[in-house]
Amino acid sequence: MLKKMMIKSPEMTSHLYNSLQALIESTSSELPIDVALAMDLAKKNEQEKSSAEYALKIIEENRVLAKKYIAPLCQDTGTISFYINHPKHFDRTNFEQIAIEAVMKATEKGVLRQNSVDSLSGLNSGNNIGLGHPGFYFEENQSDLLEIRLMLKGGGCENVGAQYSLPEISLEADRDLAGVKKVILHAVKSAQGRGCSPGILGVCIGGDRATGYAFSKKQLLRFLNDENPIEPLKKLEEEILVDANQLGIGAMGFGGKTTLLGVKIAALHRLPASYFVSVSYMCWAHRRQGMVLDSDMKIKKWIYK
Ligand code: SF4
Repeated sequence: MLKKMMIKSPEMTSHLYNSLQALIESTSSELPIDVALAMDLAKKNEQEKSSAEYALKIIEENRVLAKKYIAPLCQDTGTISFYINHPKHFDRTNFEQIAIEAVMKATEKGVLRQNSVDSLSGLNSGNNIGLGHPGFYFEENQSDLLEIRLMLKGGGCENVGAQYSLPEISLEADRDLAGVKKVILHAVKSAQGRGCSPGILGVCIGGDRATGYAFSKKQLLRFLNDENPIEPLKKLEEEILVDANQLGIGAMGFGGKTTLLGVKIAALHRLPASYFVSVSYMCWAHRRQGMVLDSDMKIKKWIYK
């Protein structure tokens, strides 16, 4: 396994490059199956000829075209984040280099927009590569499993994410689950249609400011229909989904029955002095895809198809 995971041979390098190209193309142009089904249901639930139904129809037409032409689902192809779950002795450095080349190629082909600028000068790197971009998040497992997930998260939805430090006096939100619920719903209300609803929430209770945000974003990798194994969080997810969908914000803020497609909440340990609630908001264009690779770096299975 050690030898296999070193990604040294030209064949393995080429297979990995091709697999990553396929992953980027699929992620950018196609909704994951669970999100696609939730969007179909949202459209079905809206009143005929309503603004919400119209907005969801346009989105559906856009989805069909993007898939057909392997074109971006949205012009903002987002922050590029790779989540890699790998066996021991996996060659991270080599992987990053090959992934960077795959990203550059996808940008050249127009599958990804030139979407990364120097924060001080505003200069676009032109190829999506720069300090901190793409992001790589490695996690080692104890088996032979190699899973690579990719998330493309647009700026509009990233901008409406929020972090609360409880107690939040202005919202009468204490350090308990009732307080957590208040601030999460506050984030949804504040976003209104911005961030391109219907959205999906990834939430982390606890951690510090940095780990809380990172973990909240990671919740967006969960299937919409998975079941939270922690009973109070499962209940909270269900309640927030129901309450948010009664706010009447609807698709793109046009009113309607579906403001959120899903809510995924997790908790990290925290300091006794802190109680953060971090909310990552994902738009309807929830571009996440994943693949399981075999030892030759070829795609064995898709994760969200
Ligand atoms: S929030 Fe999402 S759908 Fe809206 S513009 Fe940004 S990436 Fe596109």
